[in-house]
Amino acid sequence: MTSDPIVVGAGPVGLTAAWLLASRGIAVTVLEAAPEPQTDWRASTFHAATLELLDQLGVVDDMHSEGLAVPRYQFRDRTEGVVAEFEFGVLADVTRFPYRLQLNQQRLVAMLLERLARSPQADLRFGHEVTDVTNEGDGAVVQVEVDGRTESIAGSFVLAADGASSIVRRQLEIPFDGMTYPQRFIIISMAEDLRADCVPDLADVSYISDPKEFLFALRTPDSWRTLFPVPMDEPVEVATSEKRMQERLAGFHPLGRPYQILDRQIYNVHQRVAGAFRAGRVLLLGDAAHINSPLGGMGLNSGIHDAMDAGLRLVRVLSGDTDRVDEELDTYARARRTVAIDYVRADTHRNTTIMAESDPAVRAANHARLRATAADPKAAREWMLRASMIAQVHDQRIGAA
Ligand SMILES: Cc1cc2nc3c(=O)[nH]c(=O)nc-3n(C[C@H](O)[C@H](O)[C@H](O)COP(=O)(O)OP(=O)(O)OC[C@H]3O[C@@H](n4cnc5c(N)ncnc54)[C@H](O)[C@@H]3O)c2cc1C
Repeated sequence: MTSDPIVVGAGPVGLTAAWLLASRGIAVTVLEAAPEPQTDWRASTFHAATLELLDQLGVVDDMHSEGLAVPRYQFRDRTEGVVAEFEFGVLADVTRFPYRLQLNQQRLVAMLLERLARSPQADLRFGHEVTDVTNEGDGAVVQVEVDGRTESIAGSFVLAADGASSIVRRQLEIPFDGMTYPQRFIIISMAEDLRADCVPDLADVSYISDPKEFLFALRTPDSWRTLFPVPMDEPVEVATSEKRMQERLAGFHPLGRPYQILDRQIYNVHQRVAGAFRAGRVLLLGDAAHINSPLGGMGLNSGIHDAMDAGLRLVRVLSGDTDRVDEELDTYARARRTVAIDYVRADTHRNTTIMAESDPAVRAANHARLRATAADPKAAREWMLRASMIAQVHDQRIGAA
């Protein structure tokens, strides 16, 4: 039996929490169901607020050496072109990182794993699938399936970062209410340079509205990626066929030849927030606690904010700086749930709605509002404080003592 804190899930959120604890001298056990780290391409945006928090972990220099710093982003319309452009530079007085850093989330996972593997404080266990958790005394006990056997492992705390289908959340019977959008999203990556080969004034990050088929275009260090909605009645095998993907890309910009498609992913998109982020000594983090539309690039980022906030609170408790355990855990649960609802859900849903709006009058009003916001320095700054996730971190004192 051990009384070290346990992290469930070796995704970006679980590993951020684990490395925070280990780097502060706290022994931590990480339990991951998969036999090895995941490599599939998912989120690829790190916002200023996240870089500020991660800077405490000594990974930000490495992230910059691989990532692409993007200083501005656009709202566009398929027929009108640029509607409004927003500059992260307006935040230069409040952050050392006035940009979005584009980098595949799995690169952060690799950087954290490299550090954890060298740390005497970290016990990394792949192929360990958690099947149950119960609060017991001043800690919690998890049941783990490993090589066909069941083991019990006790921890002083459990940080559950086991993703959207979290077994920990389900075993604790915490509801995950919300909604599923009426379309899937498909992400198509290509070898072409969308600015040089297609749309010369396209920003590295562009939200492109359209009443029939909006899209999102994103430049990363590896390739350009585009995201399109897929109606639920379009079968997955049709949407992911070469023919249909080429039609979608040519509908945005006809190249006169096929695009060279490098990667594609299709997935359901939801807005869901767990009914509680704490049950006794167990905290929910990342996708286990909240999932949302990717338009705004906030899902992964807010998971990392959870990990930093929860991790710093456990450091204070476990190193004896405070004996107010309940207060620390309750503050985490309250502040992070507030952020998930009032900032992340609100802003990503707004972005998704603006992109897909089909009523001409509402579309015109949306565009007028975006133009007015971008043209007014005070309003543009407020908009960018939210887009960079700095506002929520400051307002809710995330990561502060
Ligand atoms: C296809 C796709 C594209 C995406 N694109 C974007 C995007 O463009 N922008 C954006 O912001 N977000 C995007 N996301 C969401 C983003 O990837 C997640 O927010 C992020 O991965 C959350 O990290 P996490 O560590 O909380 O969960 P995960 O990355 O899901 O990690 C959870 C880990 O827990 C492990 N695990 C699960 N169950 C157990 C168990 N019972 N026992 C032990 N281990 C377990 C899993 O194997 C996994 O390693 C995308 C997601 C998908 C699926």
